[in-house]
Amino acid sequence: MKISFDLDDTLIPAQKHFATEPMNWLQRLLGVEPIRLGTIELMKQLKSEGHGICIYTTSFRIEFSIRLAFWTYGVVLREVINQSKHDRILKEKRNFYSKFPPAFDIDLHVDDSPGLAIEGRRFNFRTVIIEDDNIDWMLTVRQAVQK
Ligand SMILES: [Mg+2]
Repeated sequence: MKISFDLDDTLIPAQKHFATEPMNWLQRLLGVEPIRLGTIELMKQLKSEGHGICIYTTSFRIEFSIRLAFWTYGVVLREVINQSKHDRILKEKRNFYSKFPPAFDIDLHVDDSPGLAIEGRRFNFRTVIIEDDNIDWMLTVRQAVQK
């Protein structure tokens, strides 16, 4: 499966608060953003099972910076979709969806936004919504992958 993760408030704390992975000197030097505790273990597990890990964010973070950040954590990403790429691929439909994973052959998208689950039901794509207080969030994702 191709699995995508949202960044803000799913993997990277913005408005919400959750524990993050410890950072090394290189990450501090590069100004890499902290990511949610458990992300690396989860992504490595999923990759070892043959899944492709992607980032799908509505932010304009540069693709290279996102790839570099995850690389410093030891994760090579399959694909990175930011708002520019979303706009470029979806063209005139870009404002019709906040995210549209099927346009990138993504089978499952992990996000914090309940609104996206509604879009998923309406437009027929699979989402897993993670609450900020879900300490078993890795299990929630794994169960959705296994379904
Ligand atoms: Mg979000």
